[in-house]
Amino acid sequence: MKQNQVGYIVTATNVAREMAVLHRLQSVLLRVGALGTLIAMLAGFFLAGRAMRPIRQAWQRQIQFVADASHELRTPLAVIQSNLDIVLDHSDQSVLDNLEWINNAHREARRLAKLVEDLLTLARSDSQTATVQRQPVDLTKLVQHVVELFETIAMAKRLELEADLPGEIHIMGDPDRLHQLFVILLDNACKYTPEGGKVRVTVALERNIAVVQIEDTGQGIAEADVNRVFERFFRADEARHRGTGGVGLGLAIAKWIVEAHQGKIMLQSKLGEGTRVTVKLPVRSAEHAQRPSL
Ligand code: ADP
Repeated sequence: MKQNQVGYIVTATNVAREMAVLHRLQSVLLRVGALGTLIAMLAGFFLAGRAMRPIRQAWQRQIQFVADASHELRTPLAVIQSNLDIVLDHSDQSVLDNLEWINNAHREARRLAKLVEDLLTLARSDSQTATVQRQPVDLTKLVQHVVELFETIAMAKRLELEADLPGEIHIMGDPDRLHQLFVILLDNACKYTPEGGKVRVTVALERNIAVVQIEDTGQGIAEADVNRVFERFFRADEARHRGTGGVGLGLAIAKWIVEAHQGKIMLQSKLGEGTRVTVKLPVRSAEHAQRPSL
């Protein structure tokens, strides 16, 4: 022992309680951590599921669209193939002898071309690549022109086709698309109205909104189906419409055209009484620079 070193004091204390508390704290922290991780995982799962729902729905719609489109494309292709098979089997005969089969194939090829064009229009509208021009259009004149196109069809079906058109109404729009829109609506009105019925077209100006109505006294649509007619490939009462040639894309395209013109389209119908389609489009006017409320 050194001279100035007095001695050692050894102290000891019992830390068992603190150790026990620390152990308890450790196990509590572990349990809370595990529970937190579990809750976070479940919440993540739930939130991811919710966030994915619209994507999943869009994906389902896309799958359904492709399935419906393939189904619709298959029918005319099969008809073309079978009719051309018959022509090939009669290769020793003249074209005139096989005219019936050639005509069938030709009719279906035209139907196919129209279907592909409609599908392309909708696909482009989905991908925002479909262009809608903006140029001054006299809506009254455009509707009148479409009505004139349907006069012979109406006459052949003994339908009374009436038009109530005012003077010029100018809107900003795409004349080809608007022509397509009114062809779809008049075609439906004539197609779904039996002989002796009436189709009436009116154009009116309500403040700064051009309102076009196409009314018919046709077979109408059941209440349960009215809200679905703008869906792609939807046909009300399929059996009744078999043979009308439509595939249920017309009104979906019509809706897209109207909305691309910042307009609105509505359909009211009563089974057995008739249908009225109303199209509202904002008119072109310098003083109406703000978008009118439809
Ligand atoms: P389609 O090519 O079958 O006519 P649309 O999309 O134009 O397809 O119309 C969808 C469905 O709405 C039609 O199949 C028909 O059942 C119904 N529909 C549309 N317009 C009329 C109408 N004016 N009168 C009765 N039913 C109609």
